[in-house]
Amino acid sequence: MNLNNGVSLKTNSSHLSYVILLSFIILIVLAGLGWFGLSHIEKEIQSNVLSQLTDRLPHSIKMIKIWKRGVKMDVSTIASDKNLQSKIHALIKHAQEVQGDASGIVRSEELKAIRQYLEPIQTNNSFTGFSILNEEGFEIGSLGDEGIGAQRLVNAPEGERLLKFASLGNTFITLPFKSEFSRPGKKGALMLVGSPIYQSTGKFVAVLIFYLQPEAVFTEIFGISRSGKSGETYAFDYKGRLLTKSRFEADLRQVGNLEPSASSILNITIKDPGGNLLEGHQPLLAPDEQPFTRMAQSALKKESGFDIEGYRDYRGVRVVGVWSWLSEFRFGVASEIEYEEAYSLLYEIKKSFYGVFGFLVLAACGVIGLAWRQGQINLALVETTEMARKANLAKSEFLSRMSHELRTPLNAILGFSQLLQMGSEYKQSSDVQSKVDPILKAGNHLLELVDEVLELSKIEEGKLKVSIEPVETFEIKNEVLDLVKPMAEQESVVLIDQCPIENSLFVMADRLRLKQILVNLITNAIKYNKAGGSVTLTQKIENQNLIFRVEDNGPGIKEEDKTLIFKPFERLGAEGSGVEGTGIGLSIAKNLIELMNGSIGFTSEVGKGSCFYFALPLTDKPSNFEEKTDQKPGNFDTSKNIKTVLYIEDNPINLELVEQVLGGEEHIRLIAASNGGLGIQAAREQSPNLILLDINLPDTDGISVFKKLKSFDNTSHIPVIALSADAMESDKKLAMDLGFYSYIAKPIDISNFRRSIDDALSKTS
Ligand code: ADP
Repeated sequence: MNLNNGVSLKTNSSHLSYVILLSFIILIVLAGLGWFGLSHIEKEIQSNVLSQLTDRLPHSIKMIKIWKRGVKMDVSTIASDKNLQSKIHALIKHAQEVQGDASGIVRSEELKAIRQYLEPIQTNNSFTGFSILNEEGFEIGSLGDEGIGAQRLVNAPEGERLLKFASLGNTFITLPFKSEFSRPGKKGALMLVGSPIYQSTGKFVAVLIFYLQPEAVFTEIFGISRSGKSGETYAFDYKGRLLTKSRFEADLRQVGNLEPSASSILNITIKDPGGNLLEGHQPLLAPDEQPFTRMAQSALKKESGFDIEGYRDYRGVRVVGVWSWLSEFRFGVASEIEYEEAYSLLYEIKKSFYGVFGFLVLAACGVIGLAWRQGQINLALVETTEMARKANLAKSEFLSRMSHELRTPLNAILGFSQLLQMGSEYKQSSDVQSKVDPILKAGNHLLELVDEVLELSKIEEGKLKVSIEPVETFEIKNEVLDLVKPMAEQESVVLIDQCPIENSLFVMADRLRLKQILVNLITNAIKYNKAGGSVTLTQKIENQNLIFRVEDNGPGIKEEDKTLIFKPFERLGAEGSGVEGTGIGLSIAKNLIELMNGSIGFTSEVGKGSCFYFALPLTDKPSNFEEKTDQKPGNFDTSKNIKTVLYIEDNPINLELVEQVLGGEEHIRLIAASNGGLGIQAAREQSPNLILLDINLPDTDGISVFKKLKSFDNTSHIPVIALSADAMESDKKLAMDLGFYSYIAKPIDISNFRRSIDDALSKTS
């Protein structure tokens, strides 16, 4: 199992976290930029709206002034006409003669002459009527007969003022006011324009008055300043009543704020109904109790101002506007436009922004969702990978324990088989021989399998440690060739050594492991070969690496098998060929090489042979390097004293095996202890010449026993040979570092075992 998958999945999931984070950051930055941009645009649009509105108002005021001056001039021109004046003088005289009697005036030729004279003038100037008042304010002439002889105009809201101004010599225009006689026989709003009439002596004798409909020119002048679909510029009096015709009369009638036949002039007061009437709002307050609109409240205080944030107008619709109170005219003017229309561009921009932003949010949500989902999948994969890793570890641990447990009985099987093989019965009886040989062969194969499984398990558990140091390769190569030579001879395969004959190439490696790898590759090249075949060993330097090459001219490896070759337990069909093996060797070799920071590869062609190579980093010769000298084992002199060997071992079968192994040696006295405590006691009491110590004891571990032995004066000098089923190199190294004389792995190789004992005893006195 490739544990890197877990790592890469975790890396992927952390990449996905970055994607999510990045999406959030981009969104936040976009939102920030958008907000900043929008508020900037909003301010621009607001100031644009304000400047449009403020431009409009002075324009309307100017127009009104021009119109007013024009009307006054027209009327004073008419009034100063000598012909008309003499007719009015005649009428005044006649009225005096009939003592103001209305019917006498109505029937008079003087009035008839004035009517004939003024009618076309009135029509030409868009007046809807005229009246002539004498200096007391009595009506002595008019277009219709109704008011003749009465003071109706003086009693009208603006009439008295008009008479007063005229008597002072001014031509005067009234504000619109409600009248019963706006046109002959008609109610409505009316404006009057009056100019004084003098006698030839210069004495004020009458006022010539023309009637004006405020719906006409007055309203139209303000109408010119309207903008868009909802812009309105209007005038209002000190009571807050409209003086110009509302643009929205139809709406006002529809919501019941205006009688069907009535004009909005003077009938609509600029009050805030509290909600949009056009959207069906029903005012909670009676019209009298409603407050003035934001604009009217300010203007009626004779203030000028503006509001671009929005307020409700007399329809309850949100508008923005500017206003001003014109004291000179005695009315206020306002220019307003519906908020929605004024800011329609802003609406559009906001809509587009929110649309784009919404899309981005959705897209980001999509990305985040996908990333989240991917993350979940990855998490599941990580969990699955982790589970698989744990399962793999559990498997490795199981195999490791199993292998360990198998070594103990194997020790007995192989040990006794070896004894049988060495015994005299063995040599005599071919029957025994034929039975013992397969046991030994199968036992050795089983041992090899157990060892390799154990090693692979350790690698997979991550427990296998390599001690990397500068290793001289010439010596290693020679040792390996010595080891494999017998096998090559047996298989009739020629070993060719083409490595440079020099002693100065060092690689960074674990000495024993390097040897193990070379042995594995060379034995493979011998095993998977043919009689008469050859195996060539070469070395070459490439990119600061030393490359070892093991080349054979065996059968080669099929294309389809090439990807499987480093997988554990893959024998690629060799299992049926009679060649012994486990299918684990190359897998271990690859793992070991990688642990030593190297790499392995191969080339192979069916029918031509294979070449396995591996590279390890080159290094300089270490300064403290010493050439090794062979240590010849000392020969034990049998004539010397009998030596005592203490064997501390709990397993009776192993004890019996060692008893039998040493049984023929008359110079050796074997004593035994079945646990650590008894062993230490025996050692202290009997002072043996050599101690054989099982490392896996029931009461305490062999290492602790060893340390105790070293701590007592009378036992510290005794050589101790470790016997252990833990066949790992690291265990061996640990023991040797502690000071054990030697370390023998179970199952014991009897010849080696005897040699070790002889060697140790030869050094004791
Ligand atoms: P084994 O114990 O089977 O030799 P290895 O892991 O060393 O296990 O090798 C795996 C398989 O690769 C072998 O079983 C064999 O089929 C094939 N193999 C290894 N080395 C060679 C070689 N030099 N030539 C041909 N086949 C080889």
